[in-house]
Amino acid sequence: MKKKIVAYTVLVIAVLCSISFAGEYKVLRVVDGDTIDIDYNGHKERVRLLCVNTPESVHPNRAKNTPMGKTASKYAKKALTGKTVDIEFEGNKQRGRYKRLLAYVFVDGRNFNVELVKKGLSPYYTKYGASKAYDREFKIAEQRAKKQHLNIWSRKSGDTTRSPGLTAALDTNIYHGNIDSKIFHSSGCRYFNGKNCTKVFHSKNKARQAGFRPCKICRP
Ligand SMILES: [Zn+2]
Repeated sequence: MKKKIVAYTVLVIAVLCSISFAGEYKVLRVVDGDTIDIDYNGHKERVRLLCVNTPESVHPNRAKNTPMGKTASKYAKKALTGKTVDIEFEGNKQRGRYKRLLAYVFVDGRNFNVELVKKGLSPYYTKYGASKAYDREFKIAEQRAKKQHLNIWSRKSGDTTRSPGLTAALDTNIYHGNIDSKIFHSSGCRYFNGKNCTKVFHSKNKARQAGFRPCKICRP
């Protein structure tokens, strides 16, 4: 009798654990580093991950796609393909531009948005506002990634995965200068596509000659 109770208890615990760790929504497709399709209550929905912005890898304008974008996409595919995930919205806001769901994605109990920042595959992206729920986690993750010069924070070109077919002009040798502050940024920087970052340079020298100085955060 006791054995039966023990066995039953173990079974109940096992079931509870599997419920808490298996997410509710099946990942149908990883589009790129920060965008996935999930089965959302029986229909396909596109989810844009909150507070991250990985470099492009599937942009229609191919010049915008970078090897670093591919690295981020690969990482997301490995972590999320075939998984079930949980999603969490920020307050009452569920959808953004293009009607996509805006959410934090949890896989195996981990906040995948924060993971991307921790791996240096995305800055803590606050263009549409800081994270209400995970601001501290994002900040710590970004500080650590920067300190370790991971991926987008790498001191060199930032890229060891460059395929020979890609010319330098397509990826890392593009800098955006902020016409207001006169600061220029590299492509991994959260300010790269900022509102006033409209001046494009193809070398740091050209940016300097034009009177711009390098950003202290991305250190181009
Ligand atoms: Zn910058």
